[in-house]
Amino acid sequence: MNPETACASSEETLGFQAEVQQLLHLMIHSLYSNREIFLRELISNAADACDKLRFEALHNPALLEGGGEFAIEVDYDKGARTITVRDNGIGMNREEAIAHLGTIAKSGTREFFARLTGDQQKDAHLIGQFGVGFYSSFIVADRVTVRSRRAGERPDQGVEWVSDGGGSFTVRMIERPARGTEIVLHLREGQDELLSGWKLRALIRKYSDHIMQPIRMRKEEWKDGEEKKSDEWETVNQASALWAKPKSEISEEDYKSFYKHVAHDYDDPLAWTHAKVEGRQDYTLLLYLPTHAPFDLWDRKERHGVKLYVRRVFIMDDAEQLLPAYLRFVRGVVDAADLPLNVSREILQESKDIEAIKKGCTAKVLALLSDLSEKEPEKYKTFWKEFGRVLKEGVGEDFANKEKIAKLLRFASTQTDTPDETVSLSDYVARMKPGQEKIYYITAESFNAAKNSPHLEIFRRKGIEVLLLSDRVDEWVVAHLTEFEGKPLVSVAKGGLDLGQLADESEKQEQEKEAQEFSALTEKIAKSLGDKVKSVRITHRLTDSPACLVVEEHEMSTNLARILKSVGHKAPLAKPILEINPKHPVVLRLKEEEAKFDDWAQVLFDQALLAEGGQLDDPATFVKRMNDLLLSMALPAR
Ligand code: ADP
Ligand code: MG
Repeated sequence: MNPETACASSEETLGFQAEVQQLLHLMIHSLYSNREIFLRELISNAADACDKLRFEALHNPALLEGGGEFAIEVDYDKGARTITVRDNGIGMNREEAIAHLGTIAKSGTREFFARLTGDQQKDAHLIGQFGVGFYSSFIVADRVTVRSRRAGERPDQGVEWVSDGGGSFTVRMIERPARGTEIVLHLREGQDELLSGWKLRALIRKYSDHIMQPIRMRKEEWKDGEEKKSDEWETVNQASALWAKPKSEISEEDYKSFYKHVAHDYDDPLAWTHAKVEGRQDYTLLLYLPTHAPFDLWDRKERHGVKLYVRRVFIMDDAEQLLPAYLRFVRGVVDAADLPLNVSREILQESKDIEAIKKGCTAKVLALLSDLSEKEPEKYKTFWKEFGRVLKEGVGEDFANKEKIAKLLRFASTQTDTPDETVSLSDYVARMKPGQEKIYYITAESFNAAKNSPHLEIFRRKGIEVLLLSDRVDEWVVAHLTEFEGKPLVSVAKGGLDLGQLADESEKQEQEKEAQEFSALTEKIAKSLGDKVKSVRITHRLTDSPACLVVEEHEMSTNLARILKSVGHKAPLAKPILEINPKHPVVLRLKEEEAKFDDWAQVLFDQALLAEGGQLDDPATFVKRMNDLLLSMALPAR
């Protein structure tokens, strides 16, 4: 059937968006070894198109044009060297074909291109994550013809789109009686092995078995040692909803291949949870943890997680009401039994039923994580590395599950050597020193800044563990997580050093004595530094360093103030307290200093600021003072 005559005057040649050209080029070169995916992508688009029409037809049944049965056909022609994928879904009009097959509409496109490395293997992975979709046709085809008509439009409103994957494509209007889309791939030289019913069936079963629409191919028979196609069509895939089957009938492989389909991922998932929930709402969920973070994970607005079905009818992608933002890395499906089919995003936002489903899904995912952390620590480590920073957002976002989330958190600590080795709060509590009442932490801009901070000196000496927090989101975590299992979390860079029962009596007495002995000095330094500090005092938290800065207990940490400043907030920087180490030779020397006292005091303050990763207002003057002091020391005694 091909009575599709063109209206010659309508032909137009258009250039691809620059990003599309770049993507096409990259894809053809770096995805060659994965070239089979083109079929999965085309079938996935065909299935999406059927889902869309089914959904639109709920409000407007006329769109079905009398045919409500959906199917996808895959056919090939050895003589013409073509493969055709056909659907009777929503179709495209001229404008849609130009927009959807000539540009990349995905958000995050720019970041994606910025992250490409030129290393084929790494890029192939990224491209896979990005979802190459329709353009993957050009890996195997040197010309692609798309014929389509939008459901509900007149037959003369069909469109034909043709491109060789170079810089441009042409579109023209055609007569097209059948609604939906047909994509014809004219294969490149050397791709003839794809022109086989056996091969195509194998690819469909491998990549598209769980598509819910039937995927049909012509039956073949063997004649004279050759495959001969008949006119009879048969369904090649399972065409059923995997999640609706009993668990006992689903193999590990089934779960994995379904994941690749819903998540558009090339890699296996890390873990999954599959459950039928009965209660206020009956629903089935099949939710997965990916092995790798997608490139746009950090965009809190970007969600392409969970698909919503109602009684196996696809309703929408990206149903963000189904999971909280801090679980936005989860992929999968939720199939609700009791929602109306014409449910919209607006309804979802207000729905108490959805609220109940969200609660249930959240609980299942947290249980999956908890399970993984206990039974498969290696996998949990992978999870934490990829998604830990997102999960941390949950501490402030999900009050009801705060305890559960707190148990899942992992941090670097003074007991580990690298930022990748992490401890849980439970680990920490289990090895607290006798008499230790608090969980100590420090926040800093980087792991090394945290690890080498002077604030840790006394803790090192006494063998008390301190958590090293260097993710930006950690400030958010400690702002919301003030205790764990009854133990308060305390910053070692805030307030006076209070080791509680960890300090012994003789030390305390000595400290009081020193505070008296040094009171003249601290006053003098305070006067010299003037406005820069809130006060100056003696500390016992230092062993190797002469000085450090702290802020009051209730004040914003300097690390947070710096983060806020770096993202353009005008954060009022709390005035720090300068603490000096009464045992340090520099401090002792300062006691004797007269002429250059102000320079010494200033250098003491500046180096304390530098040591905790801060920036000097006037680095040049610091350097000059430092050199003066070095010189004065190098000279023979005055
Ligand atoms: P994605 O599927 O992630 O949106 P694709 O590159 O696979 O990206 O497809 C781009 C767009 O082209 C689709 O979003 C859709 O609007 C349109 N499209 C592709 N194939 C079809 C089809 N068979 N029927 C209708 N529209 C289609
Ligand atoms: Mg697609």
